[in-house]
Amino acid sequence: MSRVKVIGGGLAGAEACYKLAKAGIEVDLYEMRPVKMTPAHTTDGLAELVCSNSLKSEDITTAQGLLKAEMRELDSVILQAAEIARVPAGGALAVDRALFSQAVENIIKSTGKINIIRQECASIDNNTIVATGPLTSDAMAEEIKKLTGAEYLHFFDAVAPIITAESVDMSKAYYGARYGKGSADYLNCPMDEGEYKNFIKELVGAATVVLKSFEKGDVFEGCMPVEVLAARGEDSLRFGPLRPVGLKSPDGKKAYAVVQLRKEDRYDSMLNLVGFQTNLTFPEQRRVFRLIPALANAEFVRYGVMHRNTYINSPEALTITLNPKNSPDIFFAGQITGVEGYMESAMTGMLAAIHMLRRLKGKDPVAPPETTMCGSLCKYIATAKGGFAPMHVSFELVSPIERRIKDKAERRKALADRALKDIKEYKNTVLQDIEVSL
Ligand SMILES: Cc1cc2nc3c(=O)[nH]c(=O)nc-3n(C[C@H](O)[C@H](O)[C@H](O)COP(=O)(O)OP(=O)(O)OC[C@H]3O[C@@H](n4cnc5c(N)ncnc54)[C@H](O)[C@@H]3O)c2cc1C
Repeated sequence: MSRVKVIGGGLAGAEACYKLAKAGIEVDLYEMRPVKMTPAHTTDGLAELVCSNSLKSEDITTAQGLLKAEMRELDSVILQAAEIARVPAGGALAVDRALFSQAVENIIKSTGKINIIRQECASIDNNTIVATGPLTSDAMAEEIKKLTGAEYLHFFDAVAPIITAESVDMSKAYYGARYGKGSADYLNCPMDEGEYKNFIKELVGAATVVLKSFEKGDVFEGCMPVEVLAARGEDSLRFGPLRPVGLKSPDGKKAYAVVQLRKEDRYDSMLNLVGFQTNLTFPEQRRVFRLIPALANAEFVRYGVMHRNTYINSPEALTITLNPKNSPDIFFAGQITGVEGYMESAMTGMLAAIHMLRRLKGKDPVAPPETTMCGSLCKYIATAKGGFAPMHVSFELVSPIERRIKDKAERRKALADRALKDIKEYKNTVLQDIEVSL
């Protein structure tokens, strides 16, 4: 079997290295720190957690908990290290970050197959997994552009919140197209004058996230947060993204402003607040956006964010098995694929390695089923429509269960049971087929 190159020793790169090494593959891991640092990392440790030390919930009826259970099934090195470095945090999995990073390094080195090269890598050849993260070096970004097309590599997130469709009060919202043109794809949420003015006042006064020093000045380039636009004048939103013209409500009432929601997924379970890219803190987004009458009980699947983040427009440039469309022997992993979050990044590292192992054995890679957290997120990043923005795992992405279960907790338990059964089957068929065991 050939040697494989893994570029980037973060969460995704570490998972990829471990899985390849356990299958007997020799790996050259290129990590540029400490020779060249990113603006957020502060150590030379592998899998450094750049911000929070929490890997989130372990409860399998949450998306994060189920993702972890699936990753345990696939033998995650990040989760092995997290057990060693665990600190008490209620139902969440939190770690001592220095111990955690050391444990990851110890475990992957103990395979005896990993050659760590402390050097910036700026070329991508066949048999390579690229896992250079949201702060990919400039030289590597140029190389990625050559592979994917310059227009498909983004450097900033500008993400509007997504809410569940079932949480919208449909007595105060209606589907309809502007001037009746085209199909009625948008869900319109009208506001009267008093509601709108109060909304603008609260939006402009709301607390925002403090940007990191390396993000200041750059993040708003070409894309203005909704609260900044609102601060330009009381009418700026209703003459902009909230304009009511051409929208007729079924009761014939004229709205003063209208918030439009766009369908986000194939199952019509998620809706995106159009034009609401924002830097408000998460509690403030919940408080202020719930002032829109139809969204008084909105349940947020993803909050809006705006930050520095290098990521590929995956629906255009990558396949569901994380390789560029015309390069079957190169895989991407981690945040750069358009997934969001520590565990999601690590998960794609495992999958990129599994796909690579199949290629090395002359077989086509196979994505996990859409019934799993892993598979549904890969499907999303490979097929999302509209302006693609990074995404984390969510029950709303998973293919729905056939029989309707009204109770949310019961439904999630059924989805979790199905996902765990299916990920076991995935492991057994996809890896047994190439005679690899975990
Ligand atoms: C400031 C910031 C804070 C974040 N906070 C959180 C959080 O609290 N919770 C959460 O879930 N997610 C958070 N994220 C998002 C994301 O989960 C993390 O960035 C995560 O570390 C991504 O994993 P990764 O393996 O893709 O990239 P990384 O962990 O960043 O690893 C990439 C590695 O590649 C190296 N590298 C880059 N270019 C090259 C090159 N050319 N050659 C060799 N090596 C290279 C880097 O030094 C780095 O070690 C945050 C992101 C940022 C930027």
